[in-house]
Amino acid sequence: MTPRTQKILCDLEDRALAPYAVHAGALEGRHYPETPHPYRTEFQRDRDRILHSQAFRRLEYKTQVFLSTTGDHLRNRLTHTIEVAGIARTIARSLGLNEDLTEAIALAHDLGHTPFGHAGERTLHSLMAGYGGFDHNLQAIRVVDLLETKYPAYDGLNLTWEVRSGLVKHRSQLHPVMLDGRALDPAPILEAQVADLADDLTYYGHDVDDGLDAGILTEDMMNEVAIWRMASEETKSLGLKRGDDKFVTYTVRALINRMVGDAIETSARLIESSGVASPADAPAKGLTLIAWSQEFQVLTSELRTFLYENLYFSQELKKLNQLSQERMSFLFDTFVAHPELAGSQIRRRMDVDGIHRAVTDYIAGMTDVFAICEYHRLK
Ligand code: MG
Repeated sequence: MTPRTQKILCDLEDRALAPYAVHAGALEGRHYPETPHPYRTEFQRDRDRILHSQAFRRLEYKTQVFLSTTGDHLRNRLTHTIEVAGIARTIARSLGLNEDLTEAIALAHDLGHTPFGHAGERTLHSLMAGYGGFDHNLQAIRVVDLLETKYPAYDGLNLTWEVRSGLVKHRSQLHPVMLDGRALDPAPILEAQVADLADDLTYYGHDVDDGLDAGILTEDMMNEVAIWRMASEETKSLGLKRGDDKFVTYTVRALINRMVGDAIETSARLIESSGVASPADAPAKGLTLIAWSQEFQVLTSELRTFLYENLYFSQELKKLNQLSQERMSFLFDTFVAHPELAGSQIRRRMDVDGIHRAVTDYIAGMTDVFAICEYHRLK
């Protein structure tokens, strides 16, 4: 047989994808023009560039909720990201959207995260208060545009506009967000909306799982939450009883499956009734079409509030978060005062972005493990 070339793959896509999907054959392209790859579409290339980046590998030793390496089964940012990508692909495919593009955005969505999870991000944001602050979504853009260095002619991965703009989640009708000096549409493309919803949905599911595994959450506590009771009915209908080993794990599975099912059915209805006919329609009109039903919005926001109160801000995690804050502040102050103690990248970026931003890039890129080692080395 003759291999399927990039051109054939694009033709297949044109036939398979919905009219409102972004087609790899009709994209806005890259900042630095490149010749097409013989066997991969542009979004496949972007996905692979992200997979092969250093920042992607570092996700393995970054905290999701629990400090990296504290438990055998607990998620870290890498396993979280892989789960997000899997769920995002399912949703994208079922809606006729571009699966490769969705996957690329999902794989890159957490590249801007600091060590020590949200405690780390909050600390860095307050340390940077006088210098433009810190936001993990914008940091993801810095990572793929500047901080990954591989290609001889430029810094960054030279990803497509579609993937890069898809990483900018927060949009506004009143004050357009700028990228490359260009105002972004009031809503992201549908593929980016899928990655965003898949992110929320995935962490709701696995944080319940991890919280139960770590013993911070209990089944009795979970029974206060309506969507958990709903999912556990399904487990009971299969003959499993509370206390069975498989009861919790199957209920988590049922919980995720229901959230995905509702998202697919609701989004399909919203897409249909909106009448969008091209990939530019929903973004230009500021439409969010990838969403849960009213019922599941209520159910998932109850779960989210529950997780904030009982897991993310639990006493157990509070102590750890405080320690993380101290370590991060120490590293920041030390490197600002003594950039010669940091890696060569800081010194390269210092001249362009100033010392504070260069130190922030350096610290934000660290894994939990490396940040702790650096703290002990310098303290
Ligand atoms: Mg995430």
